[in-house]
Order: sequence, then structure tokens, then C-alpha cells
Amino acid sequence: TDAIRPLIAGNWKMNGLKAQAAEFDAMLNGAADVAGKADLLVCPPATLVAAFADKARGKKVAVGAQDCHPKASGAHTGDIAAEMLADAGATAIIVGHSERRADHGESDALIRQKAEAAWRAGAVAVVCIGETQGQRDAGQTLDILRGQLDGSLPEGSTAANLVVAYEPVWAIGTGLTPTAKDVEEIHGFIRELLTIRFKAEGAKMRILYGGSVKPSNAAELMAVKNVNGALVGGASLKAADFLAIAKGC
Ligand code: PEP
Repeated sequence: TDAIRPLIAGNWKMNGLKAQAAEFDAMLNGAADVAGKADLLVCPPATLVAAFADKARGKKVAVGAQDCHPKASGAHTGDIAAEMLADAGATAIIVGHSERRADHGESDALIRQKAEAAWRAGAVAVVCIGETQGQRDAGQTLDILRGQLDGSLPEGSTAANLVVAYEPVWAIGTGLTPTAKDVEEIHGFIRELLTIRFKAEGAKMRILYGGSVKPSNAAELMAVKNVNGALVGGASLKAADFLAIAKGC
């Protein structure tokens, strides 16, 4: 798996106005320096996808989205179809982020449909999984992850159309991170399940770590076996931090 090219993905969450475009410009300007190390993906709020994708054309940063509706169109007020995001220039769509699982009660079955919607629109699905603090304390981490992987990943997942992001919920936005040993054990477990189900494709699929990744801890986390990049929240809002994380790969 050492040959898997890392992906550093930024999740801006519900942050970003047109005025913050300068930060994205700085990422585009710095991207060539890190292109030898990792692929870069920035997922701004949906309102900025088109503008960012236009700016990023021909540059070494891909633009993605944070969620999509399973259907291609229809009577779903306020929702956004994967086709619309792809039309705006998104080439990847995050699905099943823990904030959506928690805030919107998203089930594994719905997340699987959203991943299939991303594919239907020609985009890569970045599927998030992760245990809560309570589940971890109860010793349920591996069972939870197994259930989320079984339920959220569609049949037909490949290394080209799907990225798994392991994000322990207790590490998101808290400054807490698992130890390198814990990350190695969990990513190894995820790799084993992916390989059992998706064979050679599962062996090549990217498994990102997410949860309080920052420039000071990125290199240690990215060096762990079966960690093929990062999904970065808070630190992806600053170009300097985001690029420093990618340089640490
Ligand atoms: C995230 O929510 O995807 C995330 C990893 O957030 P943070 O980096 O801010 O912990």
C-alpha cells in the first residue's frame, strides 16, 4: 500500500464566503510545490463549488462537495443533486460525514445511496466512518466500523471511485487524536475488510485519517501504515496549514 498516492482533502464545512476566495487562491498558488507528494482536494460549501472549480481549472487542486441528495432531480426543496455539483465542477463528494450522520440522522443505507449518486454524476465518493466516544469507551469501535463499511459502501466500489475516511467522532474538532498505534490497528482492520470485500480494488483504495489533523501532527499520522492521506476540517481553512499538511506526506 506504500505505492498508493496520498490524498489530502479539505472539508470547509459551513465556512466560507466569497471574500475568503483569497485563501483558496493561495492554495492554488502553493499546490504545484506539493503536487509531487499528494493529490489535493478542497470541499467548500456548495455555494462556492462553481467559483472554486472555475479558478482551479488546470491547477493541481480538485474541488469537491460535502454532501448530495441521492436523487438526480425532483421535488426536494433545498437539496442539491450530485449531478448539480458535478455540473458546477465538483469531482468528488463527501458522504456520511459524522456531522451529517448526527445532525440529519443519516443512515448507512442513505449514505450508500448518496455514494452511488456521486458515481452516477461521475464523481468520486469520499465515504466517512467513525466511532463516537461512547462507542469507543464501550469497546465497540471495530464492530461500529465494520457495520458502517458494510452498510455505507456500495457494491462496485473501486480504488478509483471511492475513498474511505476514518474519522473518530471524538477526534473531530477537539484537538484530540488517537495514538499512531491505534490508527495503525484501525486502518489495518479497515484494509482487511476492504480487501475481503473488494479484493484487489480494496487493497488499493485510499483510506484517509481525519480528526484534528494539523501541520504539527500530520507527518506522524501520514507515516502510519495504511494511512493514505487525510481529511482535514479546521486546518483546511488556512492555505498555509493545508499546504503544510500535504508537505508532511
Ligand atoms: C472533519 O470534520 O472532517 C475533520 C477532520 O475536522 P477537524 O480537522 O477540524 O477535526
